[in-house]
Amino acid sequence: MLDIAKIREEFPILHQEVNGFPLVYFDNAATSQKPKKVIEALVKYYEGTNSNVHRGAHTLASQATEQFEQTREAARAFLNASSTEEVIFTKGTTEGLNLVASSFGRSQIQEGDEVIISTMEHHSNIVPWQILCEEKKAILKVIPMTDEGELIFEEYEKLLSEKTKLVSIVHVSNSLGTINPIKQYIDLAHRYGAVVMVDGAQSSPHFQLDVQDLDCDFFVFSAHKIYGPTGMGVLYGKKALLEKMPPYLGGGEMIKEVTFEKTTYNDLPFKFEAGTPNIGDTIALKYALDFMNEIGREKIAAHEQDLLAYATEQMKAIDRVKIIGEARNKVGVISFNVEGMHHFDVGMLMDANGIAIRTGHHCTQPLMHRLGIDGTVRASFAIYNTKEEVDRMVGSLRKIIAKFA
Ligand code: PLP
Repeated sequence: MLDIAKIREEFPILHQEVNGFPLVYFDNAATSQKPKKVIEALVKYYEGTNSNVHRGAHTLASQATEQFEQTREAARAFLNASSTEEVIFTKGTTEGLNLVASSFGRSQIQEGDEVIISTMEHHSNIVPWQILCEEKKAILKVIPMTDEGELIFEEYEKLLSEKTKLVSIVHVSNSLGTINPIKQYIDLAHRYGAVVMVDGAQSSPHFQLDVQDLDCDFFVFSAHKIYGPTGMGVLYGKKALLEKMPPYLGGGEMIKEVTFEKTTYNDLPFKFEAGTPNIGDTIALKYALDFMNEIGREKIAAHEQDLLAYATEQMKAIDRVKIIGEARNKVGVISFNVEGMHHFDVGMLMDANGIAIRTGHHCTQPLMHRLGIDGTVRASFAIYNTKEEVDRMVGSLRKIIAKFA
């Protein structure tokens, strides 16, 4: 059994009152809170090690470089990538998606080629492909979704052809919590020779990942959603593809030799890491990965599934509450609306009771259009959340509905 009270002790931010009530933080899909070890790693870095990486001959620079590269190895293990050459540090999921759209997309996608995404994509997995397709006169196709919030595999099959050059799909929907059976989608795309990119922003916080088993070509995630710092993320790419791709940004670090006539590029992964990176946050990410590994990702998943089942049952028992997205496989995300109330008002009233939840379209406007709504209220769980907190949310919602709906 997990000792959640002990885990909560690791998170200073949780122990405060908001609007006169103990904070219930249910906005984890937007960003998770940070354990003390992550916060302390940042302080320790800036107080004791701050130096630029890969360049200086001095002691601090080599210490910073060593710690920075330790995170790369930890991220490799987290994804079960076969080599650290395949692990590129980015600003986050958004940058990873843009990097691939720009570098792979511009070099490999031609007029008339097709790119497939899905109805439930975050804007960051839509807009980069739209920009690319517009520039290249390529065609963007979209996998449809059921009313329950599941992608329709048979429809996906119909979209694929030898024209499909790339498929980019979200592993777990941030708005609905749907877990997509991504391996099936990857296997089929590969039969058509297409490259597959997985947006792992919402799967990385919740369960075990294995990019070799998935056989995806690219996988991206953000540190801030897995108990790590903001402004930091990871792009995994298969070495053979990364080697073929041109650099994304030019500058220091990504070069081997520069002359005015010709520049040669650095080896992987540095070819894609131009300029001084986000050193402190990268070093701190290792502590977030350690935090998850120490608990165990199966235990994190089990605890969150328990909360999801408990909360779903409670929420379904409330009159006028409609759960949005009832896929068979979900992470700990409950999106809902209250009949007769705007989602924003529900969120504001919950906040007045110290409950932090998200409202709006969650950066998935096309998904909201598909469902014929303009937004939802979203509660999303993390390892430090409890059933007592779910009770607080449900109790508060009942009162709000009785008074305002
Ligand atoms: N993709 C999904 C599914 C997300 O949930 C998010 C963030 O909410 C992103 C992409 C973008 O992540 P970031 O803003 O960290 O780059």
